[in-house]
Amino acid sequence: MVNWKNNIAKITIPTPFPVGDVHAYIVRGDALTLIDAGPKTNECREAIEHAFKELHLTWNDFEQVIITHHHPDHCGGIDFAPNDIPFMGHKNNQRWLALTEEFLEEHDAFYYSLADEIGLPNEWKPFIGKVKKTLKYSCDRTLTDFIKDGDSLPGLPGWIAVETLGHAQSHLSFFRESDGALIGGDMLLEKISPNPLLEPPFSKGGKRPKPQLQLNESLKRLAELPISQVYPGHGENIIDILPLIQHRLEAQHSRAMKVRGMIAETPSTTFQLCQRLFPKVYLKEIGLTLSETIAQLDYLLDLGEIKGVYTEEGLIYSVR
Ligand SMILES: [Zn+2]
Repeated sequence: MVNWKNNIAKITIPTPFPVGDVHAYIVRGDALTLIDAGPKTNECREAIEHAFKELHLTWNDFEQVIITHHHPDHCGGIDFAPNDIPFMGHKNNQRWLALTEEFLEEHDAFYYSLADEIGLPNEWKPFIGKVKKTLKYSCDRTLTDFIKDGDSLPGLPGWIAVETLGHAQSHLSFFRESDGALIGGDMLLEKISPNPLLEPPFSKGGKRPKPQLQLNESLKRLAELPISQVYPGHGENIIDILPLIQHRLEAQHSRAMKVRGMIAETPSTTFQLCQRLFPKVYLKEIGLTLSETIAQLDYLLDLGEIKGVYTEEGLIYSVR
C-alpha cells in the first residue's frame, strides 16, 4: 500500500538488475514532483501506475520529474511520463541520456586505454562494448533543465539539492530543511555500499574522476547535514545516519588496507589485484569488480601508501 507521509510517497519498483527493487518518490509541494522513476520495463510501468492509482493520481497530474542520477534503474521509467513534462537533474546526466556518437566513441576509447593501464588481458577487452548493454533500460529523453549543488528545487520550496558525486558523476541528493528528510538516491544505502563506478573524463584525454575519493567526500558532507531520515534508492529508510556513514568510511579504509597488504606481498597490476580480491565474482562482474579495485588503488595512491610504475604489462603497484 502506497501512502503519503510528510508529503512524500514511496513507490517500490522491480528491476532486472542484481540490486533488486528500486524506489521512486512522489513529493508534494507547489508542483507535484516525481523523483526517480525506475527502469524502462513493463513491470516498472505497472508498479508505478499501480502506485499512482492508489494515490488517485495519473501521469498527467505530475508537473515535473527530477532524477538523483542517470543510472537506468533510476531514470528509465521517465519515458512513461508525458513527453512535454519538465525533466531535471545534474547536468552531468546529459551525456548518458543523449548518448551521442561522439560520447560513445570517447567512452570506448577511454576504456580501451584504461584496459592497457590496468593490465587487462586481451580476452577480456570485448567486455568494453558490453558495459553499455544496460542502457536499453534507460530513458530516451534528455534533461530540459539542470539543477546544481545548493539550488532550491523548483516547485518544492524548502528542498535543496546537494551534490553527492562518487557512485555517479551526476549524483544529487535532495534535502528538506524543515524536517531533515533526504532523498538520497544511491548515496547511502542500508545494506550495500554503492559501487564507486568509474566514468570517462569530461573532456577528451582529460583526467578521469576518482569516484572513491568523491564518494568519501560526499559521505562526509552528508555527515555535516542535520539529516533526520534518508529515503534511499534501494532498501529501507535510514534513521541512524552517522553510525552508518562512519561504518562505510571505516569499511572502505580497511578494504583498501587489505589491498595494500596484497601489494606488499606481491607487486601487481590492477587486474591481478581484482582477481585476488574477487576470485569468483570477477568472472561474472568484470566491470563492477574492476571499478571497486581501482577505487581502492585511487584511495591508497591518494594516501601516498603505494606507487605505480609503467611496464609492458600495464601499471604495476608496489608499496612506498
Ligand atoms: Zn545507481
